[in-house]
Amino acid sequence: MYLHFLIAEIVKMGVSIYEQTVAVNIETGPPCKVETKQGHQVTARDVIVCSHFPFYDNRFYYSRMYPERSYLLAVEAEKPFPEGMYINIDDPKRSLRKTVSNGKELVLIGGENHKTGEGEDTVNHYKALAAFADETVAAKKVCYHWSAQDYTTLDKLPYIGKMKASDEHIYVAAGYRKWGMTSGIAAARLLSDCILEQDNPYQSLYAPSRFAADPDIKKFYYCE
Ligand SMILES: Cc1cc2nc3c(=O)[nH]c(=O)nc-3n(C[C@H](O)[C@H](O)[C@H](O)COP(=O)(O)OP(=O)(O)OC[C@H]3O[C@@H](n4cnc5c(N)ncnc54)[C@H](O)[C@@H]3O)c2cc1C
Repeated sequence: MYLHFLIAEIVKMGVSIYEQTVAVNIETGPPCKVETKQGHQVTARDVIVCSHFPFYDNRFYYSRMYPERSYLLAVEAEKPFPEGMYINIDDPKRSLRKTVSNGKELVLIGGENHKTGEGEDTVNHYKALAAFADETVAAKKVCYHWSAQDYTTLDKLPYIGKMKASDEHIYVAAGYRKWGMTSGIAAARLLSDCILEQDNPYQSLYAPSRFAADPDIKKFYYCE
């Protein structure tokens, strides 16, 4: 609902939205030209690359971020679930929240993260979450299960800002380490200030060009 409202407001302001359009490259500008897989070009003064993993990489993003996979169950629960979202501070990590699907209340239980490609048998991760669901909310039925991945940077803070220090009009927002729903808002504010040439106190903190030789260099080579 909120998304529809947001889209309507953006369109009212004269913004064009291109759906089903895969960006594959950027010709630097100004103006910048985003090349699409379908062979078209979108021209803009400023481009923000926010495609989870950057579709355009001119500064070694592939070796400065690594993916982690995590798993999720949506269960029908016997115990009533309170309002709010929960995450524990201990290991193994578990997060809980509820949602409504086809008029039915479901509890979402997430966790079991590991570096992509390094986990044990996938089935074991779902079993571990199901055992936790039984114990915590008395799960009647597992309705859905799925997994997803998110990227982590060398120092665990997202890269938000100029893609490369010398790129005047190409920006990136990536590496949220599974906190993109919240950090994405910080990215939107920071990047709009960058484009409007306004100061923002978080600019250097998130600058993608930051690199501390110690300890980043150790991780750079084998992306631990
Ligand atoms: C189960 C689960 C629970 C989570 N819970 C939380 C939470 O409680 N709090 C929180 O802060 N975070 C949470 N996260 C993490 C959060 O969802 C992610 O960090 C965030 O979605 C990443 O945002 P993103 O914009 O980088 O990528 P995405 O959300 O993946 O968006 C990228 C978009 O770019 C599009 N795209 C990709 N490539 C191209 C291309 N070449 N051309 C055009 N478009 C392209 C994709 O279609 C997609 O729409 C959760 C994640 C999962 C999986």
